[in-house]
Amino acid sequence: MNIIKTKKQLCTCCMEEHEVKTVIVSEHTVFKGEKLRYDAEYMYCDLAEELYMTEEQIQYNDIQMKDAYRKKQGLLTSSQIVAIRAKYSISQSDLCLLLGWGGKTITRYESHQIQDKAHDMILKKLNVDPEWFISLLYDARGNLSEDSFRKYHESASFQYEKYRDLYLRKAIEARRIRYTKNRFLQAESNLAFQK
Ligand SMILES: [Zn+2]
Repeated sequence: MNIIKTKKQLCTCCMEEHEVKTVIVSEHTVFKGEKLRYDAEYMYCDLAEELYMTEEQIQYNDIQMKDAYRKKQGLLTSSQIVAIRAKYSISQSDLCLLLGWGGKTITRYESHQIQDKAHDMILKKLNVDPEWFISLLYDARGNLSEDSFRKYHESASFQYEKYRDLYLRKAIEARRIRYTKNRFLQAESNLAFQK
């Protein structure tokens, strides 16, 4: 049990005002057949010597547990999904629109509902393929406001430039490696010839 905060407040465990601790507890559980370990947050009452959760902690701990499961399954965590969406500065409902998913799908995946492998693969592709994002954006243009379209287009273009530079650098690097290897092989065969 790790204490992260102590604050004088009304303790909803003993219903008295006193210093209440916020603590991190390492939890072990089995979920959908997977053994999981994750850090859960609790309140601790020194008077009753009891751990309890606020409503926010119940929500937070459930997501922590689901994220531990997602990691074990090789799926994106809820915060990774949030990060992909942030990369394109797109709203949850508009991203659903682009992908042809139900309007609340992304909202659910960013919290308690674990995405299946097929949806996960699409999100992973979107993460590294801004060109694909742009083509989806053009397909959905009629259903988006002009402002939103422009905003999403701008962030996707920025990502596209960034990835293009990265790919170019990688291609140059690959050529350099091939070149060095060829020269090495050539030097070796010259040596063999001289013998
Ligand atoms: Zn108390």
